[in-house]
Amino acid sequence: MVLSPRTHLPRVTPSSASSASSASSAATWLGAAVFAFFLAAPRDASAFCRTTTCRDASCPTDADGCVTSGAPLHWPTSCIGFSVDARMSRNLPEAATRTAIERAFLAWTERDCGDGRASLTFSPLADTTCGAVGYRKEGANVHVITFRDDDWSYRGVDNSLAKTTVTFDASTGEILDADIEVNTATNPVTTGDKDVRYDLQSILTHEVGHLIGLAHTPDSEATMFAAYQTGTTDFRTLAGDDVRAICAVYPPGRAAACAPTPRGGLLRSCDAPAGEEGGCAFGPPRVRSPASVVTFAVLSLLLAARRRSQGSA
Ligand SMILES: [Zn+2]
Repeated sequence: MVLSPRTHLPRVTPSSASSASSASSAATWLGAAVFAFFLAAPRDASAFCRTTTCRDASCPTDADGCVTSGAPLHWPTSCIGFSVDARMSRNLPEAATRTAIERAFLAWTERDCGDGRASLTFSPLADTTCGAVGYRKEGANVHVITFRDDDWSYRGVDNSLAKTTVTFDASTGEILDADIEVNTATNPVTTGDKDVRYDLQSILTHEVGHLIGLAHTPDSEATMFAAYQTGTTDFRTLAGDDVRAICAVYPPGRAAACAPTPRGGLLRSCDAPAGEEGGCAFGPPRVRSPASVVTFAVLSLLLAARRRSQGSA
């Protein structure tokens, strides 16, 4: 088991994932954050794309369709905390749902980059009852995985399976907050290995890729491909393109502290007033520059029109 000496929080690691949900109560993190200079990874033969601060449709792209302007989004820390919406989904078994969530994060955890492990892990924090997405500049926040059983209010795309909302500093690309919503209102999402319809673990593994700053890749074998094929579990397992992406964004040896608590403290309830941290002591939200603009990106996973295995033909 790999545990940081700087944290008392349980982390999703290859050896702890199975027990992560039972250890979901958060302790207070007492360390001091050290923020690294960020180096944008040079483009190479990999197809993967990063989400950048350029969100306009007119942003220039390269031959792979990757946006080439703006600052790439990234977390400055080595640990990202996440919370499950305690209300879960009425349409899914809770234990299997929690397992799917943990495995989705585990897929991206400390991947082998050849010269060490990617400098990114995840910490399951206490559940929340706040399923509201977005970033609170004043007060506590939560990186929530929530289920929309009754209403999928987004319009314009009818077949979206899930959405990840990433709030970031528009000048630096530093991610401030990220939330994942799963569309269980209109989709037959499943959690098992048999009779798979829309596989929750596959969906979430893809969305975690967005949560860490990745955009869709043109590589049809990759988990970060834009379209999911009904009945498959392929997205559960990262492809080489996905691993190259996380190794480029969060390389081994990156100078970053483990600071999984959301900015302003952990938001346990939407009813909590600004500054209420649910029992966790933490400093005020930090924005790198008063002049910087905080904005957000919404990324979604769509249903495929063809099988991914046929996509590279
Ligand atoms: Zn997506």
